[in-house]
Amino acid sequence: MPFQQSEQLYQEAQEVILGGVNSPSRSYKAVGGGAPVFMKKAKGAYFWDVDGNQYIDYLAAYGPIITGHAHPHITKAIQAAAEDGVLYGTPTIHENTFAVMLREAIPSMERIRFVNSGTEAVMTTIRVARAYTGRNKIIKFAGCYHGHSDLVLVAAGSGPSTLGNPDSAGVPESIAKEVITVPFNDIDSFQQALEHWGHQVAGILVEPIVGNFGIVQPEPQFLEKVNELAHAAGALVIYDEVITAFRFMYGGAQNLLGVEPDLTALGKIIGGGLPIGAYGGKRQIMEQVAPLGPAYQAGTMAGNPASIRSGIACLEVLQEKGIYDRLDMLGAMLERGIMKAADEDNIPVVINRLKGALTVYFDVTEVKNYKDAESSNSEMFAYFFKAMLKQKINLAPSKYEALFLTIAHTEEDIRKTISAVEHAFSEWPF
Ligand code: PLP
Repeated sequence: MPFQQSEQLYQEAQEVILGGVNSPSRSYKAVGGGAPVFMKKAKGAYFWDVDGNQYIDYLAAYGPIITGHAHPHITKAIQAAAEDGVLYGTPTIHENTFAVMLREAIPSMERIRFVNSGTEAVMTTIRVARAYTGRNKIIKFAGCYHGHSDLVLVAAGSGPSTLGNPDSAGVPESIAKEVITVPFNDIDSFQQALEHWGHQVAGILVEPIVGNFGIVQPEPQFLEKVNELAHAAGALVIYDEVITAFRFMYGGAQNLLGVEPDLTALGKIIGGGLPIGAYGGKRQIMEQVAPLGPAYQAGTMAGNPASIRSGIACLEVLQEKGIYDRLDMLGAMLERGIMKAADEDNIPVVINRLKGALTVYFDVTEVKNYKDAESSNSEMFAYFFKAMLKQKINLAPSKYEALFLTIAHTEEDIRKTISAVEHAFSEWPF
């Protein structure tokens, strides 16, 4: 059996690790269940599992691994950090270096703080926005994931002018009531929400290019309008660039799109694979944070030399000329191959792609917001996922995730992947 060891380990894991996984997105629940594959080694664009199978990887650890796994420059930086001690609890020169690199890449981050995860980064931007404005409510866009802090685990109410409901047990309704959720790319709903609640809104939380119901780009002028209306209402605009920063260019989606937020949250890629988050923004706003201001945020592990040196090394790799053009070229090749295979077998496929990130949706005509993504066919995606896995192509086990290319992928990897897609489509059971 090709996945025997994984199945055994999954059985054992469930006896000690809650649900057998340390993050629910790693389970195969959304693709019809079964034992998730236990990986043993990762190098470049490849994974090897505990049963000895080799895979081409498009998960990229849900985004961070843009350089490919175990990139030698990053590995060297982590090794050097380990030699020098991984945690000091004091400032280090590396934090200065990295903060300067980030600010040069994303100039709206005039002052920066390092934290340990995207969740922490977003959570703190909300606190800062609340401290700065003296208001409590936030507006977010439906289907956008901003980590697992209470305030952002809230789903839409029944219309743009209703308040949210908790999306998770354990989130008090009183907290959900502070969140207003509106559809992405729908400026009228956003405007209505602001007309209703604007004077109470501290911040608008935005994934400027959505990564969490697949890759969805903003309509022309959508983000400009969000900024304009938010600022007119006295609210701050917070960009959650945990996925998008350094994914599409050296810098944030804000650089790519030419729209500046007041606050930005980062994570994933900027750690080069080690745990990290960062937030920052306009100096005057950031000065709300302790030790300068009254908003508290702290962290024993924050700015640890291992994560910081890994992050510096990752950005150094990404500074190489032509990196993002190459990701675009490989992404376009994969998109073309999948679309061609789909056309030949009459499979209803829509692909949303930007550079080296793409999402394959089934049985929809377009995906511009969460509702569109939600209506895409889950059974078809589950079949596709499993058919690809059988052919040793590792995708994220959810129709809402993207395939992420890395600079380690080769044209040969893409050709092999397209062949696997053709095979999966040729046996399409629907
Ligand atoms: N924000 C976005 C846009 C994300 O995609 C994620 C994680 O997937 C987070 C925040 C949370 O980051 P983390 O998992 O590092 O806490």
